[in-house]
Amino acid sequence: MRRARHIAILTGAGISAESGVPTFRDAQTGLWAKYRPEDLATPEAFRQDPKRVWEWYAWRRELVSQAAPNPGHYALAQLEGCVPRVTLITQNVDSLHQRAGSSNVIELHGNISRVICSAERRVVEQWQETGDAPPLCPDCGAPLRPDVVWFGEILPLQALEAAVQAAHSCDVFFSIGTSSLVEPAASLPLEALQHGATLAEINPLPTPLSKHARFVLRGPAGQALPELLRSVWVIGRSPEPNRQ
Ligand code: NAD
Repeated sequence: MRRARHIAILTGAGISAESGVPTFRDAQTGLWAKYRPEDLATPEAFRQDPKRVWEWYAWRRELVSQAAPNPGHYALAQLEGCVPRVTLITQNVDSLHQRAGSSNVIELHGNISRVICSAERRVVEQWQETGDAPPLCPDCGAPLRPDVVWFGEILPLQALEAAVQAAHSCDVFFSIGTSSLVEPAASLPLEALQHGATLAEINPLPTPLSKHARFVLRGPAGQALPELLRSVWVIGRSPEPNRQ
C-alpha cells in the first residue's frame, strides 16, 4: 500500500451496515419482513405493484437520509491523502462515501436520493404530490421511480467503463463489504487480479472472492479500515501524504 500509485476500492452494502443502513442479505425486520429485498428491486416488481416498490424505496430513502458516515467511510476518504490516485467504486446508493469526503466516487447502481421518469429515464426534480404512490412525471405522466439499477437492468455505461478502467490500472484492489454475488460488479476484483493488482478483501464473512484475495481482513470495515490506515502509514489523525 505504501508503494501503490493507484488504489481502487469496490464497496458494497456492508460498509454502510455500521451506519445503520441494512444490507440486502441481512434479515429484514419490521414492516418489510415479509418481502425479500431482491424481489422488490426488479423492474417486474415495479410493473406488478409500483405502489409497494415506491413505498419501500421511500422507506429506505428516509433511513439513508438519517444515517451518518461511519469510520470506514471516513478512512476511505482519508486514503485520498495517502496515495497519488484512489478510485472508489460503490454499489451503494446512499451517498455516504461522498458525505464522508471521498471525491472520486463511481456509483455503479445509481443513487436513491434521485428520482427518474420510468418512461423517459430523465431525472425529475419536482412533481406534484397528489397522495398517490408513485407520483407521476410532470411531462409525460408515466410513473416516477428511484434512480437505482434494479436486478436485471444494465449499469450506467460511463460508470462501468470507468470502473473497469480503474480495475485494469490499479496496483491494489480492495473489495469491502460486498457479498461478491451481484454481477458485473463481482467481476471487477478478478479483472484487477488478472491485470496484476494485489487483491484484498474486508468482510466479516467469507465470500466467493475470498479464495482469490492475497489478504483478507475478517472484521467490520468500520474497525478494520481505520486500523489498516494507522498501521500502514503509522498515522494518528492526519496521514502523511505521498502525493506528488
Ligand atoms: P449484500 O447485502 O449482498 O452483502 C453485504 C456484505 O457485507 C456481506 O458479505 C456481509 O458479510 C458484509 N458485511 C456486513 N456487515 C459488514 C461490515 N460491518 N463491514 C464489512 N462487511 C460487512 O450487499 P452487496 O454485495 O452490496 O449487494 C447488494 C446490492 O444491494 C447492491 O447492488 C447495492 O446496490 C444494494 N444495496 C445498497 C445499500 C446501500 O446503498 N447502503 C444497502 C442495501 C443494498
